[in-house]
Amino acid sequence: MSPEDKKTVNSPNRQYPMERTRNIGIAAHIDAGKTTTTERILFYTGLIHKIGDVDDGNTVTDWMEQERERGITITSAAVTCFWTQKKEDPLVKSYAGIAHRINIIDTPGHVDFTAEVERSMRVLDGAVAVFCGVAGVQPQSETVWRQATKYKVPRIAFVNKMDRTGANFENALSDMRKKLNAYAFPIFLPIGAEENFEGVIDVVSQKAIVWGPGDVANEGLRYEVKEIPERLREKSKAALAELIDAVSNKDDVIAELVLDEKPIEPHVLKAAIRRLTCKIELVPVLCGSAFKKKGVQPLLDAVVDYLPGPLDVPAAEGLEPGTENVVKVEADDNIKFCSLAFKLWTDPFAGKLVFFRVYSGQLKKGDTIYNPRTRRRERVSRLMVIQGSERKDIEQAYAGDIAALVGLRNITTGDTLCDEDFDVTLEPPTFPEPVISMAVEPKTKADRDKMSEGLQRLAEEDPTFRCFTNEETGQLIIAGMGELHLEIIIDRLKREFKVEANVGAPQIAYRETITKSAEGEGKFIRQSGGRGQYGHACITLEPNEKGKGIEVLNKIVGGTIPKEYIPAVIDGVEEAIRGGVYAGYQVIDVKVAIVDGSFHEVDSNELAFKMAGIFALKDAFKKANPILLEPLMKVEVTTPDEYQGDLLGDINRRRGTIIGIDAKAGQTILNAHVPLAEMFGYATAIRSLSKGRASYSMEPLTFEQVPNSVLTQILDTAKSKPAART
Ligand code: GDP
Repeated sequence: MSPEDKKTVNSPNRQYPMERTRNIGIAAHIDAGKTTTTERILFYTGLIHKIGDVDDGNTVTDWMEQERERGITITSAAVTCFWTQKKEDPLVKSYAGIAHRINIIDTPGHVDFTAEVERSMRVLDGAVAVFCGVAGVQPQSETVWRQATKYKVPRIAFVNKMDRTGANFENALSDMRKKLNAYAFPIFLPIGAEENFEGVIDVVSQKAIVWGPGDVANEGLRYEVKEIPERLREKSKAALAELIDAVSNKDDVIAELVLDEKPIEPHVLKAAIRRLTCKIELVPVLCGSAFKKKGVQPLLDAVVDYLPGPLDVPAAEGLEPGTENVVKVEADDNIKFCSLAFKLWTDPFAGKLVFFRVYSGQLKKGDTIYNPRTRRRERVSRLMVIQGSERKDIEQAYAGDIAALVGLRNITTGDTLCDEDFDVTLEPPTFPEPVISMAVEPKTKADRDKMSEGLQRLAEEDPTFRCFTNEETGQLIIAGMGELHLEIIIDRLKREFKVEANVGAPQIAYRETITKSAEGEGKFIRQSGGRGQYGHACITLEPNEKGKGIEVLNKIVGGTIPKEYIPAVIDGVEEAIRGGVYAGYQVIDVKVAIVDGSFHEVDSNELAFKMAGIFALKDAFKKANPILLEPLMKVEVTTPDEYQGDLLGDINRRRGTIIGIDAKAGQTILNAHVPLAEMFGYATAIRSLSKGRASYSMEPLTFEQVPNSVLTQILDTAKSKPAART
């Protein structure tokens, strides 16, 4: 797109054109320093005046208290900040003196929250991958890296913690090349390391940037740009030559200059680095110490210089609802409005917030938005952005912006919000089935209502979390994507809703389905003096496609069951489906049709027909070759070669299937599919089998039939422990 074209897509009213907007995420392994880096960014961009250190539990993006305690970041909070490259710097700055708007979307770092990571990746245009200068590339950074690759997110890398004992920039860089297969080249080199880490060398401009000691508040604001110290000159020159060589391999402009032996001006090289970074063909590598406030301003400069704005990435794609037609949503203020709601958040001050990313058009306060999922319209009464700890009302949001809607009720994470005559769905509403469940009850009986209200609210925010009542036992059941997921829900219940809960042991969320079609009949007839009961229904039941869920149709003709009783029959069928037939686990992927029945002028009523529905479903289900399904996990183990044999044997014993074995940098990567039921206690097992040197990650993959050899055991346990079944 030419620069003239770009102008036309920006509304004249907006303060920051799309070229000066960056939507970024900070992705990292837990503990690599994501929170500290974000914190410093917010400090340098002028939002917070006192730096909050993670260790004091005083940060901005970690809104939830238990995150501070656990030290992991779970929510996708979006924070807006502004950065202007310094004009007076002798360094060559592509955008010197021009303010940029940077929206930071917090990406969760733990695999239990895959759905959230993936959703936040979708709304980003670029990412800063933070690595620990001591540990290098850790397994979790690999997972996040792969997710970013899958969602085509351009990246720059920040090697953090250069001040820590054991910090080694070269190791982290070679890790990135080997383990992540990244075409990674330093644009900054460290000056010193560990306690002697002083600053960085800007490879492109061949200057040194040096900070003060950095442990005094605000000290890190000041830095000096100097000549490169004598001892590092050779190294810096070599790094520049290597960088030019790397860029010339992939960029024609630089290749030509190299070929003609012409000088390469820093701004020309920078423009080429930007082109390659945006195309995900190069990863510029930076370094610093967020904690000691060294290297953060150059990081912000690099975000502006190298990461793409909304116009530098391909247009978003959606589907026309109910069809397979792909609709392209171009980043342009002057076309219809289209956005994705990517995070719901209950804010203690502003109430319920819906964070959304605008892909096209504009949204003004007072406008009406349309939700293709619910086919409902809602009026937007308030719009805001979060700037540090401040909530700031805004009048209007434009293409490429990230903002929050206030006070809207019927929106769920993943919903598309658009103009009514631009009917498009950006994210198909496929919510994964939970794989694990547990029973919960309030510590004090009086809190039961408060507890169900809290759980309901949390379920609205998070489509991978569910809660319901087990109709048989009356117990409240919560279900989600992993143990940590549910632990955090319980924690939030306590902190945000002030309800303490007792929880049962985690249970596998098995599912039931059928393998052939069958017919079923249900009768509920009682004649016990006075007025009797009469309900009678016949149904057909057939398997539905995997993942298609439940369909219940009414095919009654000629009033064999009167119209007013049909909803009762459907109710009964659905209740039996939720409660399960075979082993008490929810039924999935079946089609039910109500086809026949009969009634009694006097004795028929809703309850009798509901019971008939339950019986009919159970009758058909038993004849339809029912099977039990179990959650299957995708497991990835990274281990030194020598433990491969033992770990493979262990996976086999866990009913696992090995999908692939790869060698990467002296490490072996085992990919396997293993039933979740066999994964309890795996963390301990892998530690003892590899003397603590192997690591693993896992995420839900699909549901598979439980083999007969294991079935009996599950059925027996299910009978003796109906409590937390779902
Ligand atoms: P996150 O889990 O990735 O968000 O990591 P945090 O920002 O919470 O940092 C984890 C720990 O590393 C905290 O104790 C930080 O104080 C510490 N830390 C973060 N950055 C640095 C750094 O640059 N140098 C040193 N020495 N420690 C750091």
